[in-house]
Amino acid sequence: MARSPWSVVVPLFASMLALAACSAEVPAEEQADPELAIEGEQNSEEALTQVQNIRGADKMDPREIALTYDDGPRAHSVAFAQWLKDQGIRATFFMTGSAVVSNAETRAAPAKIAAMGHLIANHTYTHPITPPFAKLSALKMVEEIYKTDQLIAEHIEQGAPSLMRTSGGSWSSTVSATLNGNPQTRHYIGNIYWDIGGDMANGYGADWACWGSRYNLTPEQCGDRYLKEIRAKGKGIVLMHDIHVKSQAMTKYMVPKLVAEGYKFVRMDEIRGIRAEGTAGAAGVVAGATCADGCLWSASCVGSPHPRNAPGSANLVCVQRGNCSAACTPR
Ligand SMILES: [Zn+2]
Repeated sequence: MARSPWSVVVPLFASMLALAACSAEVPAEEQADPELAIEGEQNSEEALTQVQNIRGADKMDPREIALTYDDGPRAHSVAFAQWLKDQGIRATFFMTGSAVVSNAETRAAPAKIAAMGHLIANHTYTHPITPPFAKLSALKMVEEIYKTDQLIAEHIEQGAPSLMRTSGGSWSSTVSATLNGNPQTRHYIGNIYWDIGGDMANGYGADWACWGSRYNLTPEQCGDRYLKEIRAKGKGIVLMHDIHVKSQAMTKYMVPKLVAEGYKFVRMDEIRGIRAEGTAGAAGVVAGATCADGCLWSASCVGSPHPRNAPGSANLVCVQRGNCSAACTPR
């Protein structure tokens, strides 16, 4: 994807004007919950992007929706994935590495869920919210994506793209340049954003807020909010969180209604043009230029155990210091 430096500058000014208003719109109660910080972050970061957040509205056909589930897996995610499969639905699960490694069942979940035809995608390792992902050091950004990649890459089927969504959807030109500039992360397409499910305004729903103390809705009540937004927009990427049993129940409430109304469910990589989006293959700013707390990859850094570590590329953030200590230059 060709980029001009000016494509960064113009949205930067626009976003600076909007920052204060967006952050003030998030109630204090919602900010207290890490996951609830999503709404404020997403809006403030979006306009900063060099590569814009990827949405479905401009690419999808009418009555086409992509169900996406974040923050898992949990042990109960597997049975839920099976329910989706039984409905003929292929969804996309944005997993965090820390959730994958939490126990034996969650470690086994990516393979099981992938075998059902769902797409496994990257949602960072520790799900940073405070500070938001876009405020992390370059080294930390790469670590967050790369560590989860090492856990899920083998479960992304041959030929399918590697998709990523940052925690809270937090994104900026710096994140884009950093991930583009590293061989460990540049194959990722992102930031995969959403069209539906991020906001309680207008009578719409966001599952993490629906279940919180401020709203405390039932799956049906929240589902009606989602349905309202889906019907209003007619298509899009739907954000939900499979870690919540109520979100699973909400899906089971909505799906028969959507099927009856003629909606079709697509996996994220079935969205037309999705592979041409995002960070993959784009030439970005060399990430080493912003590396403050790590070490730099050098041409003499060889012998890394991971195939995506590309010796010979100078000035790239090295996320495995121990594997190339002789070549690393401490900052
Ligand atoms: Zn999340």
